[in-house]
Amino acid sequence: MSALILIVEDEPKLAHLLADYLTQAGFRSHIIADGLQVIDWVKQQQPDLLLLDLMLPGRDGIDICRELRQFSQVPIIMASARVEEIDRLLGLELGADDYICKPYSPREVVARVKAILRRLQLAQTGNHLEMHGFKVDKERYQVQFQQQLLDLTPAEFRLLHLLLQHEGKVYSRAQLLTHLYADNRIVTDRTVDTHIKNLRKKLAEIAPATEIIQSVYGVGYKLSFPTNS
Ligand code: CA
Repeated sequence: MSALILIVEDEPKLAHLLADYLTQAGFRSHIIADGLQVIDWVKQQQPDLLLLDLMLPGRDGIDICRELRQFSQVPIIMASARVEEIDRLLGLELGADDYICKPYSPREVVARVKAILRRLQLAQTGNHLEMHGFKVDKERYQVQFQQQLLDLTPAEFRLLHLLLQHEGKVYSRAQLLTHLYADNRIVTDRTVDTHIKNLRKKLAEIAPATEIIQSVYGVGYKLSFPTNS
């Protein structure tokens, strides 16, 4: 099925023009004009991308973006009528994927939508990652190590997958934490240590002699393999 784009825009003419262009480009779209309706709709319909206007009746785009990011990684393109406003938005680090200044051409918006979705698709083709004896199946949340299936919790899976994707990169506990839990639950650095400890134990059952997850003193953790493996 084609990607579903949510257009959050309170100027009906502009909203419908965007919808037309998106349809022509092969997307499905839905229009919401009231800022208060966005969160519920996103939760129910799970769109693939949001075009989010800044000034809206009910609730502004900044507020909506902040709340969305607490439970969703859906790509967001924010639109604002003022260039200065976009600088301010960037400074707020709202987690939007792109910003566009009004008046824009619908063609430009469609191009940006396509670019973001393409990037996302590329990132997701990493569904089957294979390296150093690991085989990661992201869809099934499964990891095989040296032909043996690891019995991982979701948190352990996410940790290992992240470390594998960026072999050698040192992650701080705080970075690992934000990757572990999308919601704002209270967790401590020790949570990460516990997950790492369990993960190491499971890896050691298969390869006792190698320390794959290494501690970097005072910083965090990284993944490392002997060069000849
Ligand atoms: Ca508006």
